[in-house]
Amino acid sequence: MRLLPERRWLRVLLGVAAVLAVVLYGKWRDVTNRGGQQYAEPFRIAGNLYYVGANDATSFLLTGPEGHVLIDGGYPGTAPMIIASIAELGFDIADVKVLLNSHSHFDHAGGLAALQEASGAELWVSGRAADFIAAGGAGGAFLGPFWFISYLPIVRYPAPRVDHRFEDGATIRLGPTELTAHVTAGHTPGCTSWSIPLREGDRELHVVHICGLTPHARDFGRWRKFQESLEAAEDPVEPFVDPEGYLSFIDRAEERFRAVIEE
Ligand SMILES: [Zn+2]
Repeated sequence: MRLLPERRWLRVLLGVAAVLAVVLYGKWRDVTNRGGQQYAEPFRIAGNLYYVGANDATSFLLTGPEGHVLIDGGYPGTAPMIIASIAELGFDIADVKVLLNSHSHFDHAGGLAALQEASGAELWVSGRAADFIAAGGAGGAFLGPFWFISYLPIVRYPAPRVDHRFEDGATIRLGPTELTAHVTAGHTPGCTSWSIPLREGDRELHVVHICGLTPHARDFGRWRKFQESLEAAEDPVEPFVDPEGYLSFIDRAEERFRAVIEE
């Protein structure tokens, strides 16, 4: 057996490395596109509010006679999951007329373009977040001093069309559905919390969708409350009505915020 000349070895090695790089890039892209998110069974929370997100990156649907409102788009790769979950509940993505967002990060705004294309809905974004979202996350404040990396195509998400910009305190209405925007500091510029009055039977409930920390399912105990709701013989909505849980969440957030300020 003759040994291959050194240069030929180098070419073989480079070839193998190139193939490996392409395969690994594909895998990485696939994982980041979905952020490792898994399907989660969609369910009604209370009134006309439904959970349609993945296992951790949340999305919420508010249904109404004049169309539906969808809050947050998950990762680019979770948009098909959200559309399927809406269908599974018996609703149609084409009836979503208003798209809203908590903040400009990849895991909450990444799927907005695909959802907008599937629904034709108009996207409302707070003034300070609008440019980031319209640029697919470019210029977004998630890398600190390495902000320039956000301009690289591989870390951007498909850019949706921003139809409306609003400021703190704005109210968005679609038929009887009404959401008030609260621009809350802490996570990203223009981070928006939503407060929504909800009717459940003869009760009026107050829903708060928080931005300032991240809107992830683990923050509101999606899995535990969903299980409790399945097992609740009397009132499946009760596990989701959790003012103490909400207040302790706010207290923990405040503690963390104060710790950061002190540092
Ligand atoms: Zn975020």
